[in-house]
Amino acid sequence: MKHPVLAANWKMNNGPTAAKTFMDTFLAGYPLRGDRTIIIFPPAVSLTTVAIAASSRPDVLAGVQNIHWAEKGAFTGEISAPMAKDAGARVVLVGHSERRHVFGETDAQCAKKCLAASRAKLPFMLCVGETIEQREAGETKALVTQQLRDGLSQTPNLISADFLLAYEPVWAIGTGLTASAVDASAIHTLLRSELHQMIGTRGDEIPILYGGSVNATNAAGLLTAPEVDGLLVGGASVEASSWLTIAQTGRPH
Ligand code: PEP
Repeated sequence: MKHPVLAANWKMNNGPTAAKTFMDTFLAGYPLRGDRTIIIFPPAVSLTTVAIAASSRPDVLAGVQNIHWAEKGAFTGEISAPMAKDAGARVVLVGHSERRHVFGETDAQCAKKCLAASRAKLPFMLCVGETIEQREAGETKALVTQQLRDGLSQTPNLISADFLLAYEPVWAIGTGLTASAVDASAIHTLLRSELHQMIGTRGDEIPILYGGSVNATNAAGLLTAPEVDGLLVGGASVEASSWLTIAQTGRPH
């Protein structure tokens, strides 16, 4: 059984002032524990605030929600992997469904971002997941497999410390609909087998997180499902009280 990873994606919530208040409340209620890893993905402007607040906590990592694939240059509004790392990021999210579906991010761009993260020695969490139309058309397995293979196409020599995977069905994100533990397990098992084919036994160590309307009530059931190694939580992670409950959920390690 792997060490669970509980990740909070604040999306465009919690600027630096709110981030400081959140971290003070969260860390006061969440004493150091060695049986899980917490990752907080704040908006980029709050990254340093979160990183500083978590600096004495090896079990709590700051992450960044997005990077550009270039190291620097004329890309107004973007930040690079080395810059995010310099600001305190220990993980980067790549290919979140809102990046793909609101901002048109493609698998080819995700692959370039994975490569950029890897070059900066910044572990990345690649997100894959199907829309409701793709699900109803029976395309889920082919789609997530392709997103995984395309996303990693430029980083074939991954080791487990470089990479996490998140299965986030688009129809479940921010909708209140959640995949059942059985459905989530089926896709996680497929992704695990793909990873195994791609990188052999190194693929067995990669944490695969589930995301999509996880909350304090459904977190425990999902976390005990086979091949679900953690949770990526959006809306229910924005308030410290709700996140405190979710972060402490689940199976003892
Ligand atoms: C997310 O942003 O990754 C997410 C899963 O959002 P929510 O929990 O709000 O569905």
